[in-house]
Amino acid sequence: MKFMKDFESSKILVFGGAGFIGSNFIRHILSEEHPEKLVNFDKLTYSGNPDNLREITSDPAYEFMRDDIADYRAVEATIKKYKPQYIINFAAETHVDKSIHESGYEFIRTNITGVFILLEAIRRYGVKKYVQVSTDEVFGSLSLASKKKFLEQTAFSPNSVYAATKAGGDILCNAYFRTWKIPAVITHCSNNYGPRQYPEKLIPFFILRLLEGQPLPLYGDGKNVRDWIYVLDHCNALESCLFKGKPGQIYNIGADNELSNLTITRFLLEYFKKDKTAIRFVNDRPGHDRRYAVDS
Ligand code: NAD
Repeated sequence: MKFMKDFESSKILVFGGAGFIGSNFIRHILSEEHPEKLVNFDKLTYSGNPDNLREITSDPAYEFMRDDIADYRAVEATIKKYKPQYIINFAAETHVDKSIHESGYEFIRTNITGVFILLEAIRRYGVKKYVQVSTDEVFGSLSLASKKKFLEQTAFSPNSVYAATKAGGDILCNAYFRTWKIPAVITHCSNNYGPRQYPEKLIPFFILRLLEGQPLPLYGDGKNVRDWIYVLDHCNALESCLFKGKPGQIYNIGADNELSNLTITRFLLEYFKKDKTAIRFVNDRPGHDRRYAVDS
């Protein structure tokens, strides 16, 4: 999709652009829209990888800043320096298992405090549009037996620390829109797949295990369902939200592609010419949501 005529002279500030979806988004925007400047502000935590953007570092429109969204001085200085018209935020702690096996502190710090700090800076310096990239996990769990899908108006009912902190960030965006008229747009997307995903997540994790001849640990009965979307389809939708989205609006993004973890595992086994003896069913994750499906 091209919005170039309007946006070729614009400056875009991306938070968390060195991770999976952010790096795909930056590559996509630089090749489609040719903005005057695109600044990637990323702390480079374990899931941020500069190699995700290696080929574009020579693009004169691209600049990278290693910094922390939860540090007000760093966020303010960046907005003051570049005066971006558009801001999009991917920066987050994103792995549910990490919030179970380690502390939830970094989730609260980045996903809630970081969003608050960014909103405060936007309130002072202004912006044409701000997109808060969020997840369908804020809506909680649907039953396998029902045909229901999450609507944009569905009430939040998060079941993990990850989802609860993402919901907290979203609620703050809504409050800043209502109170200060900040032109915030919130998106709720389903599970993404595609290149450059950190291998803690199901598909790259299982691919690496298959390459190493290791068994595949599948939670519970493997029947948990997600609506899987290709990452560049998500990026296309985010591009529309950033340039054409209505401030104060929530947009659900999905692919009508509900698949269970077991079905995905079987696809991978078939691709790697392995049989189902590679599957090891392990104890389910605490609070593991059964089904997500978005009405997009
Ligand atoms: P990711 O873990 O691959 O990347 C997160 C990025 O944020 C990394 O580059 C990391 O270094 C950066 N970051 C983390 N803490 C930071 C901080 N304090 N300051 C600055 N940068 C920081 O995540 P992802 O899968 O690309 O997800 C991006 C966004 O999309 C998240 O907000 C997530 O909630 C949302 N989302 C993801 C999916 C999915 O399937 N992956 C689906 C829907 C929504």
